[in-house]
Amino acid sequence: MSYYENGIPPVRDSRLKMGDSYSGSALGLVECGREGCLLQKGRGFWQANACQMALSLMMATTVENSVIVMHAPGGCGALLHSLSAQSAKGRAQRGKTPASVPWLSTNLSEADVIGGGEKKLRETIEYADREFRPEIIFVVVTCAPSIIGDDVEEVVRQARPAVSADVVSLHCPGFRSRVVASAYDTFYHGILRGLNLSPEPRADFRPPPEGCPDDGLAEKKYRYQKSRTVNVWNATSIGAADEKEVERLLTALGLKVRFFAEYSSRDELRLVAEAGLNVSMCNVHDDYMLKYLKEKYGIPYVIAGMPIGFRHTREWLLRIAGHFGLEKQAGTLADHEEGLARRAIEPFLEQVRGKSVLMCGGVVRVGSEATALSELGLNVLGIRAYHYDEGAEPVFEDVGENLPDTPVSVSNQLFEMTHQIKTLRPDLVISHNGTQGYIAKLGVPSIQLFNVDSSFFAYSGIYQILRRIVFEFKNTSYRERLSRHIKLPYRQSYFDGDAFKYIKN
Ligand code: SF4
Repeated sequence: MSYYENGIPPVRDSRLKMGDSYSGSALGLVECGREGCLLQKGRGFWQANACQMALSLMMATTVENSVIVMHAPGGCGALLHSLSAQSAKGRAQRGKTPASVPWLSTNLSEADVIGGGEKKLRETIEYADREFRPEIIFVVVTCAPSIIGDDVEEVVRQARPAVSADVVSLHCPGFRSRVVASAYDTFYHGILRGLNLSPEPRADFRPPPEGCPDDGLAEKKYRYQKSRTVNVWNATSIGAADEKEVERLLTALGLKVRFFAEYSSRDELRLVAEAGLNVSMCNVHDDYMLKYLKEKYGIPYVIAGMPIGFRHTREWLLRIAGHFGLEKQAGTLADHEEGLARRAIEPFLEQVRGKSVLMCGGVVRVGSEATALSELGLNVLGIRAYHYDEGAEPVFEDVGENLPDTPVSVSNQLFEMTHQIKTLRPDLVISHNGTQGYIAKLGVPSIQLFNVDSSFFAYSGIYQILRRIVFEFKNTSYRERLSRHIKLPYRQSYFDGDAFKYIKN
């Protein structure tokens, strides 16, 4: 039985060959991942890690006309206060109504943990449906009900006929996975099991009347349009500006582009199966969903890394174009766009050339951006990926080929990042959201690895990345002054040894 048929999705820890603890080289990492030694690695000391539920919520809160039901003790939903504002902004940036996200919690008490929370969950789902009349109710299953064994799938199955909304369960207890990226699979598993992803006659299209003299022509037209329609899979780290840039390039090749699944409504999600190709923006986000759509609807997919920097963008475009026999057009487009972008970035190159940079964050983005910046003359001191799995092999083979001497680590631990910054003293750190405060306290210039209010992909993206780096180099006084007044929570002796001394086999 395929895991798509299970009520509860697999976590990345069991679905893929992966790891979260490594220090060495890019090719060493690829080798270690293939041989399985990465699975054995851990640490003698860990700081707190992020919970996959947070990322599942980041995705679910973007879906239009939905309500979140947290099946949890009160604390697990705290993040929703800020996520609601974030999702409203994302909607506004895409021309949608910036509504806030209604959310409820079953607020499990000690008595519920002993006696079970299924009744409370059923009542909360029905209340959400009556009160908010949503199209989708996301039931977010956290640690407590998963530990006590609440049969959420059965509650959801029984609730479905009693409510007008579609009920989608998201099983994302933090304790089940060491890899936050499991949240992507959780979200897509809920969507593919709880929603209809293919168009309904009359709601989404009008079938031609039988015997209509025109129906052969209409059928051909429909098939052609479908074959030229591309679904591009977005995620929380991809902003509206990046979507616009990707759409601009693919539209220039004559393709029709739609973005899923964030910022989509239930009606829009029914059109998922109406496409000739699914395109990934990053395999960490969407390989689970793309493989499902191939298995269920026979839709081919392209996973070709991230279009960051000139070489990766060209490769990404050519891979998509190759599916449609449009390689020549894509090559011409890339030549033209690259010519324009290279002229535009010229004034920045002098100011960044030779600067040393430490890269930290998501595995595909961090590897792609490191090689892209190195090709523009920056000196990459180190690459630190939050996790690694077999899907990132092509990216790290490329890193190994182009930056063979650059140290590569797999770490989501802030104490290791602090150590690296203190000992390597890079001119710049490019790092995942949420870490900027820690870097500022060290007095080192830094920019975000991604930021949904800005552009990172393709030609406008590389211009914007360099522009931000140049701006950061000119505005260092805040960080310098902050670092002079901050006392770090580490003894000086901690910085004497290797940054990754706690990693063990
Ligand atoms: S780890 Fe468990 S208890 Fe903690 S926030 Fe995540 S789901 Fe809730």
